[in-house]
Amino acid sequence: MEEILILSGKGGTGKTSVTASLAALADRPVLADCDVDASSLPLILKPRLRRQETFIGGLRARIQPGHCVACGKCKELCRFDAIFFDGPSNGQVPRTFRVDPSACEGCGVCEYFCAERAIELIPAENGRWFVSDTRFGPLIHARLRPGQGNSGKLVTLVRRQARLVAEASGRQLILIDGPPGIGCTTIAALTGTTRMLVVTEPTPSGEHDLERVLELGRHFGVHAWVCLNKHDLNPAMTERIEHKAAALGATIAGRIPYHISVTVAQRQGRPVVELDDSPAAAAIARLWQQIRTSLPTGKVS
Ligand code: SF4
Ligand code: SF4
Repeated sequence: MEEILILSGKGGTGKTSVTASLAALADRPVLADCDVDASSLPLILKPRLRRQETFIGGLRARIQPGHCVACGKCKELCRFDAIFFDGPSNGQVPRTFRVDPSACEGCGVCEYFCAERAIELIPAENGRWFVSDTRFGPLIHARLRPGQGNSGKLVTLVRRQARLVAEASGRQLILIDGPPGIGCTTIAALTGTTRMLVVTEPTPSGEHDLERVLELGRHFGVHAWVCLNKHDLNPAMTERIEHKAAALGATIAGRIPYHISVTVAQRQGRPVVELDDSPAAAAIARLWQQIRTSLPTGKVS
């Protein structure tokens, strides 16, 4: 089974548009959206929901008002300012303390030090994950609740589910729309994968972000293809970035020109390769051909 992770180093480079087009070009892929903070592949692929599950990412504290004597010790010790003195009366004290679930990091300090045993740690619902059908194949995607941590865990979960779906359906290719940036979600997406496609733009920030993501990939021993999106907006910078990427061990897999058809496709909620007479679509088709032919023979048709 092959797994290709599509990354960008930052948002807004056209990574998701490219992923959606590769989904349309590939033969029976399984798709995974690991941008769990702002999943956007579903906006283009218009999935039909088949199953949804709660994501329990950790623990959070809860104060049982009936046992709280309002000593204030927990508030004093909480380093995340997650405890407030606005809980209900319990008949003994007019006000008790309360935990703000969105601020609690589940460290357990308050629970450990509460002499009244008024605090319990309970599973924290950090988000949801979904298995859906698209016209190109099954899609595993997720939504982390705003402000919640443990996004790396959710990325790992999405990848694991994508593998299970691929194994169960006999599909040989998983295409993963990766998270932007090089934070913990990107590390979670890179861990254990072998191939990545980095989509970047010919700008100074594109060059900088590409370097960072290639170095990260190198650290994890991941083979990298690089694709310059909107390459014709700055040919000199495109050349320079490609040289730098090659020097960092990446394979230059393609260039995509700037073309209005990409915006039109986005507005229509379709992959650009489904539009006729689009130079961008033709370039993505060549990009996929380049990637496909460099995969081990017979693994992906
Ligand atoms: S430490 Fe326990 S008893 Fe004291 S305020 Fe906090 S919850 Fe209430
Ligand atoms: S578990 Fe940690 S973060 Fe949460 S309320 Fe208690 S001390 Fe604060």
